[in-house]
Amino acid sequence: MNGLICGRCSAMAKDGVCPLCGKAKKLRTVREEDTVYLTSCEYIWTQTVEDLLRGEGIPYRRQALLGSGLITSIGETAELYRYYVGAADYERALAALPDFSVGMTEEELNDYIDNEFDQQPNDPQDGEQ
Ligand SMILES: [Zn+2]
Repeated sequence: MNGLICGRCSAMAKDGVCPLCGKAKKLRTVREEDTVYLTSCEYIWTQTVEDLLRGEGIPYRRQALLGSGLITSIGETAELYRYYVGAADYERALAALPDFSVGMTEEELNDYIDNEFDQQPNDPQDGEQ
């Protein structure tokens, strides 16, 4: 497998920059033993992604992103998960994923989540106030 990977985010570079941090500074040539960032998805999609990866026999690592600030108010469903696979499995894993996740940046996903939950009316039962 050829290409550049971000040494900080383990993401494959797109258009010469890391899609996660947006920088080219830490890019280096990907190595066979690298763990590569595959995709991010919402909690509701994790089962789908994991079934697909398991179906392909691809080992993966999942990391929950706790920094969105949305978790405390609306719960686990708004959490984003990052998936990582071995560099040797990367292209196969990418091909196995459905279109929803491929090419969607975390920024886009966050916007999507924001919009989705903005449309929900405030719960009048909320006793916190
Ligand atoms: Zn990066």
